[in-house]
Amino acid sequence: MPENARAFPAVTEKIRIFKVIAVQLALARGAEEIDAYVPSLISCKEALAGAASGLVPESSLAGFGRAFESFARSLAGHDRGALNALAAGRLIPFANEIEKILEPGIFSPGRENDSRLLSGRFVCDGVCAACLNESAEAARREVLDKLSSNHYALETPPCVCGGESFTDIAYKDRYGLPVTTALCKNCGLLLTRPRMTEAAYSEFYEREYRRLYTWNVSSEPFYASQVCRGRKILDYVKDALPERARVLEIGCGAGGILEPFAESGCEALGVDIGGEYLEIGGSKGLDLRNMRSGSLLETDENSFDLIILSHAAEHFLDIPGEFGVVRRLLRDGGRVYVEVPGIKNICAYNFDYLRYFQNAHTYHFTLDTLRQTLSLCGFALERGDEAIVSVFSKSKAAGAPELANYYADNTDFIFTVEKYFY
Ligand SMILES: [Zn+2]
Repeated sequence: MPENARAFPAVTEKIRIFKVIAVQLALARGAEEIDAYVPSLISCKEALAGAASGLVPESSLAGFGRAFESFARSLAGHDRGALNALAAGRLIPFANEIEKILEPGIFSPGRENDSRLLSGRFVCDGVCAACLNESAEAARREVLDKLSSNHYALETPPCVCGGESFTDIAYKDRYGLPVTTALCKNCGLLLTRPRMTEAAYSEFYEREYRRLYTWNVSSEPFYASQVCRGRKILDYVKDALPERARVLEIGCGAGGILEPFAESGCEALGVDIGGEYLEIGGSKGLDLRNMRSGSLLETDENSFDLIILSHAAEHFLDIPGEFGVVRRLLRDGGRVYVEVPGIKNICAYNFDYLRYFQNAHTYHFTLDTLRQTLSLCGFALERGDEAIVSVFSKSKAAGAPELANYYADNTDFIFTVEKYFY
């Protein structure tokens, strides 16, 4: 047996990591930049061939070491911001291993995180799990380019509970975009972290979101589907509504959800930002306004009987801020209807978290974590299920609620689903 045989696993592992980095950089930065790494890659490839043959001469090992060092220097010489974005989105799965080899401190983002991937399916390999048409694929490419060039910057805020320690469970979303989904160790809330900044999300919603997510579905079917949902929501909340209730929907899109409310005699108002869909409901006589909910505080504080958040809260960047506004707009005794995708409703996604994770969602809830997160914002759960369809009212209890930790519960659930189905 060659004397250096014991070094095999370590060497092959280094080579594997090296290759992954190279591939990731190739994906991220295009062919031109990767050219600079070609000599290093060739050395690496030779070392790999040597390792595979079972005879690894010292010279190859040394060559690999030199190649790796030169690669590391090139990598470290890159713009720090761009490198961090790469590291945050794509290299974290390997950050711990890389840092054992490179000088420490190169990959700073997410270092406080544990990494326990749901399974090998969640490594960021750029592979898209969704079936996209041409327009959606073009939008996906644009997002990838903007993330790679750091045009879409990332941030790492603490959890809503204040927790700053997380376990990463996935490094890609259903579109193959580099999205890290992590569990807060302090409360068990599942969130996207790092995530894009507010400026990046604004541009994303304006330029790529609709193409990527809706396949440019035409407006009328979208409105009709909203009206259907509106009927279900009205049915769910009608017992709690007074006569001629004032109803506000935040993030109303085309406003279809409000139509059944308006028809039943409610005074309905919808707000959304940059909503090109607003004109559809507007043309049908609904009161829809292009504004943020906070702009209503001057005129409508403490005045709504019902505030609807249908598939809005999972997109929020500032949950306490957004729900703080909701609390002020809601009259005492009023209700908030909150509908979000549920982690435990994974059957709706063929039990596949790879279909569930997506870059537009900043938070992922179970009924427990939604109840607890909104309790931190001054709301009490009245009823709800894991779908998640729920109704909240202003909580009466004073002071900060006691925090439960759903980390173990959520870890068990998500990992069990992945284990049984994939
Ligand atoms: Zn937390």
